[in-house]
Amino acid sequence: MLVMLALLLVPESESEPPMLITTDMTAIADEPVAPATELVAATEPVSEADTVSSAETVSSAEPVAQAVSSTDNSTEPPALVVSPEEPAATLPPTAKMVLILDDIGYSVEAGLRAINLPSQITFAVIPHTPYGKALAEAAHQAGRELMLHAPMSNLSGMDLGEGGLTLQQNEEEFMQVLTAALADIPYIKGVNNHTGSELTAAVQPMQWVMQELKKRDLYFVDSMTTPDSVAGATAEQFRVPSLRRHIFLDHIQTTEAIDIEFKRAIALAQQRGYAVAIGHPYPETLAYLETALPMLAALQVDIVPVSAMLEQLRIVERSSETAAPTDAW
Ligand SMILES: [Zn+2]
Repeated sequence: MLVMLALLLVPESESEPPMLITTDMTAIADEPVAPATELVAATEPVSEADTVSSAETVSSAEPVAQAVSSTDNSTEPPALVVSPEEPAATLPPTAKMVLILDDIGYSVEAGLRAINLPSQITFAVIPHTPYGKALAEAAHQAGRELMLHAPMSNLSGMDLGEGGLTLQQNEEEFMQVLTAALADIPYIKGVNNHTGSELTAAVQPMQWVMQELKKRDLYFVDSMTTPDSVAGATAEQFRVPSLRRHIFLDHIQTTEAIDIEFKRAIALAQQRGYAVAIGHPYPETLAYLETALPMLAALQVDIVPVSAMLEQLRIVERSSETAAPTDAW
């Protein structure tokens, strides 16, 4: 698949611009993308470790994803989450993709390899990790955007490490943990959740989080580890700019599976104007992105940092408000 993607750009003749050909291109261009309402996984329960049911949400049109079994339970599920109320952005002709790499901080080698990827990836760094600060510094030097990847309690019993936010903490403890985590990673412009299938479904702690983010002028990206998340709605209440994850690239860490998810992200971006994809610094993901990212320009897909995407959406929203008929005369 990766090799086939590499064959996407074959100049038809010396005098003409590259044409997008091969059957694999058909997979990108013609891959059926369900209408937003059909992509919603929100009615199905999703747990971080439930790879079977989450694989089913990927869509029956993709036998490869179903054929590949996952042995990894360490990350959030790949459910594609696009809510029916989420407006498509009208941003043609270039589609935008937000690409976030989570779980930065444990490996210098993987972190630096990720930072060297040739696109405006946004890096989500886990607090209190051995190399979180140093990698945030390196990413900042490379002109990349940074987020805090805040560990939040999950229903799968996965260890949160230091800096984990839980339902058991009272407000004072919760705020201490949150502010220490925010202080640990330099240059951050926002936060997303590491696991969090339990905590992001709880209103009170999400209010504590959003209140703090508003104070600090930070955004929130909901990783959508549960369909019951109230993070987005709470962010809206507190007027914290927010996005939600549509696609997990590498819940299944094979080139074939990553290829399928990446193409779904491209198709979604082309269809709706933008897509939000999250991956991890796995060797398979990094190797895939090293080959695939340089080809995005030819597909007219731009990788943009989260803050740029939020700004773009704000402009679109504002202009549509201006253009809307009003009876306020
Ligand atoms: Zn994570």
